[in-house]
Amino acid sequence: ATCVKTRSPLSRLRDVRGSSSAAATAGRRQRRRMAPKAVGDGTPLQDVELKQGIANFYDESSNVWEDIWGEHMHHGYYEPGSGAQLSIDEHQKAQVLMVDKVLEWSGVRPESPPATILDVGCGIGGSTRHIVTKYGCEAGTGITLSPYQARRAEEITAADANIDPQKSAVSFRVADALNQPFEDESFDLVWSLESGEHMPDKEKFVSELFRVLKPGGRVIVVTWCHRVLGKEEEKLSAYERLLLAVINKAYYLPDWVSVARYEALAEAEGFRDIQVDDWSPQVAPFWTAVLKTALTPNGLRGLLKSGTKTIRGAAVMPLMRLGFATGTIKFNLMTAVKPAKK
Ligand code: SAH
Repeated sequence: ATCVKTRSPLSRLRDVRGSSSAAATAGRRQRRRMAPKAVGDGTPLQDVELKQGIANFYDESSNVWEDIWGEHMHHGYYEPGSGAQLSIDEHQKAQVLMVDKVLEWSGVRPESPPATILDVGCGIGGSTRHIVTKYGCEAGTGITLSPYQARRAEEITAADANIDPQKSAVSFRVADALNQPFEDESFDLVWSLESGEHMPDKEKFVSELFRVLKPGGRVIVVTWCHRVLGKEEEKLSAYERLLLAVINKAYYLPDWVSVARYEALAEAEGFRDIQVDDWSPQVAPFWTAVLKTALTPNGLRGLLKSGTKTIRGAAVMPLMRLGFATGTIKFNLMTAVKPAKK
């Protein structure tokens, strides 16, 4: 029988670092020569597989995450010096604070709140509900690729005493951010918190965000990016690219971009008042905390119950931490306004 050795992503990283084997190069050449296949609507096959992978990953892992971390599936916001010894309740508060801080940074004012919001890549609806409740929105809509998440988001919303269905229509559905089932000019605020990194076509992503916004409406994208390249650099180092490649496999991510790319895409699309920022220091304590909860008896039981995709996700958590610590990975924000009609 063949003996399959399980190896940590880090050990693989050390191996491949710097080595450029002829076989790997030949493989790459061959892949490039093959014509990209597409499905009926023209979506490249690798994107179809990626989407299926994302849906399966969140179908499988959302329950474990919710058990330990609750309804928010994103980084917390930590004041300088805080974060080292926080309880899970405090980490959950930091996650809610993230939503509030991002809204404040973006210039969404409580005096002129958005009436209708779209949450692109909504998870189980944590931000959707928080924003609808905070501003008393008429409508909040969330989209996700995961059927489990859409169902669970509906369930939590139905049980949420802060949301009155007579006043606020909140709903969730399975839909693709790159091909949204909404009319042009539908929403006052389009919000995407830690979903952009999953999008294989950033240009289409930004153009869909623009399309569904009402004129005068605001977009907010908070997403994982790689660092902005220096003037002399054409790409990330081989080591950095390998680090991201391992993370991509575990978290179902396509190639990364820098925040400068998002800025350029937003500008080309016609957005105005574009602002970007880097909050990597503000999220620094997060991955250590996630790793700690994964290694508790409860966390380990949850991982074992959930399945291989979730376990692989947990196994690369140290790589996320490494990526942030070495400055390869950035926690970026972008907000912009769709020009009002004259
Ligand atoms: N914003 C949520 C969830 C973040 S997890 C929160 O902060 O709690 C990433 C989410 O992005 C998942 O819900 C996943 O289904 C969604 N996602 C990834 N690619 C997507 C796509 N192409 N279309 C719609 N949702 C997508």
